[in-house]
Amino acid sequence: MKIISKHYIDGAFVESHGHEVMDIIKPTNGQVIGRVTLGDEEDTRYAISVAKRTFETFGRTKKEERVEILRRLHKAVSARTGDLTRTMVEEYGGVVQFAGPIVQAGAEVFLAAEKALHELPLTRSWGSTTVIMEPVGVAGLITPWNANAFFLCMKLASAVAAGCTVVMKPSELSALQTSVWLECIHEAQLPKGLCNVVSGRGEIVGAELVRNPDVAKISFTGSAAVGRSIMRDGAATMKRVTLELGGKSPNILLDDADLSKAIPDAFIIGFMNNGQACLAGTRLLVPKSRFDEVKQMIVKTIPAFPVGDPSDPKTAVGPMVNQKQYERVQSYIRKGIEEGAEVLVGGEGRPAGLESGYFVKPTVFVNVKNDMTIAREEIFGPVLSVITYEDEKDAIRIANDTEYGLHAYVSGTDIQRARRVAAQIQAGRIAVNGLLDDQQAPFGGFKNSGVGREFGIYGIEAYLEPKAILG
Ligand code: NAD
Repeated sequence: MKIISKHYIDGAFVESHGHEVMDIIKPTNGQVIGRVTLGDEEDTRYAISVAKRTFETFGRTKKEERVEILRRLHKAVSARTGDLTRTMVEEYGGVVQFAGPIVQAGAEVFLAAEKALHELPLTRSWGSTTVIMEPVGVAGLITPWNANAFFLCMKLASAVAAGCTVVMKPSELSALQTSVWLECIHEAQLPKGLCNVVSGRGEIVGAELVRNPDVAKISFTGSAAVGRSIMRDGAATMKRVTLELGGKSPNILLDDADLSKAIPDAFIIGFMNNGQACLAGTRLLVPKSRFDEVKQMIVKTIPAFPVGDPSDPKTAVGPMVNQKQYERVQSYIRKGIEEGAEVLVGGEGRPAGLESGYFVKPTVFVNVKNDMTIAREEIFGPVLSVITYEDEKDAIRIANDTEYGLHAYVSGTDIQRARRVAAQIQAGRIAVNGLLDDQQAPFGGFKNSGVGREFGIYGIEAYLEPKAILG
C-alpha cells in the first residue's frame, strides 16, 4: 500500500495542507493499492508564489541553459522508464504494449523540444524594429489520467524550452505515476521552483490555477466540458490558453485499401490505450462496395486483439480506468443497440473470466449512422462504429460531419490520392496508412477538439509572447 501525502514545491517534497484522502484503486481487480492526500487552494497558491518568484530569474535564462535542463530531464526520465511503465500498467490498466512506448515517447519529447528550440528564432529584426519572443510567465499545466507520464513530460518540455516556470496539476487518478515521475524530476536537479506539482481535484487545485492572476497561461488536456469552463473562467484574468480536448476521429478506408493491413491498423487506432485515447479513430468509414469484406476481416482479426491482464505483453486491451468509466462505456454500448446499430463483435457486460475488474468487451458496431449517439459522442472505451459511404466525396462529408476535429486517418494503396483526401479533412492531424507520430509536428484540434497546438516549435510558441521594439 503506497501512501502519498506530499506535493513537490520549490525543489522539495512538502506535506499537503489539504487533507482530503483518496483511495487509489487498481482497475484490474477493484482493490485499494494506495492512498493520496489531495492538495487545496493554499497548497496551490504557495506553489504559484514560488513559480512566480522563480520566473524572475528563469524567465531570463538563455537558450543554452534551458537546453541543458531539457537534457537533464531526458536523462532522468529515461533512467526510470521501466518503473514509469509498471506504475502506469498498475494504476490505470494501460497495457504494457502501449505504456512502454508512450513512456519512452515522454522521455524523447525533451530532446524533441531541444531540437525545436534550436530551430525557433527568439529574436527577429528588420530595419530599426526588433521582435523578441518572451516567455509568457507562470504556466499552469493540467493533465488527464490517460497517459500521465507522457503529458507531464510533454507540457513541461515546451514550457521549460520557452522559459516559463510551471505549476502542474496531474489528474487525481494518477497519483502513483506522478510520484514516480516526481522522483525523476527531483533527480534532474532543476533550478528550485521551476517545476512545482500539486496533486488534487480539478475543481479545487485546477480552478485555483485558472483563477489566479499570477498564472499567465493554462495548458490543459482533458474533456471538452472542462476545457470550456477553463476558457470561460480564465477570461477574467485574460489567461492564454491551450486546450487539448476530445475527439471522435474518422478513419477512412478508401476503396483501394489493403484490408489485411487497414483492419489491424483500425483496431490499433481505435483500441489504443484501451480505447481511452483522445486521438482514437472510433468512426471507421468503409466503402459500401467493400462492406461485406470489411465485416469478414473484422471478425477474423479481432482475436489478435485480446482483452485481459495489462501487464501481459500479448494483451491489446486492458480494463477501463475506474467503475465510472466502465459504466460510461456500457451505457454507450446499450445506447448503440437501442438506436439500431448492430453489434458485430463484443457487446454489453464483462468478458468471460474477467469479472472482477473494470474490463469491457472490445466492441465493433456495424450499420451505424453518423447521427447516432455512438457516432457523435466520445465514448473513451474500445468501441468502434463502422459507417458505410457511397464515394470519396461522401466519405469526406461524413468524416467532417462531427463537432470534433482532433485527428483523422486515411488508408489507401494510392498514396497521392489518400493524401488528397487527408487534406480535405478538418482535423489537426491526419495520418495516412496507420498510426504515425512526429514530435515536431503540431498536435491539437479544430472545432470542439480545442484551441492551440502542442509539440515542436508550435508547442513552444504557445508559451511565448512577442514584444516589438521600434526605433
Ligand atoms: P477531465 O476533463 O475530467 O480532467 C482533466 C484534468 O482537468 C484533470 O486533471 C482534472 O482534475 C482537471 N479538472 C477537472 N475539473 C477542472 C476544473 N474545473 N478546473 C480545472 N481543472 C479541472 O478529463 P479526463 O477524464 O481526465 O480525461 C479524459 C478526457 O481528456 C477525454 O475527453 C479525452 O479526449 C481528453 N484528452 C485529450 C487529449 C488531447 O491531447 N487532445 C489527450 C488525452 C485526453
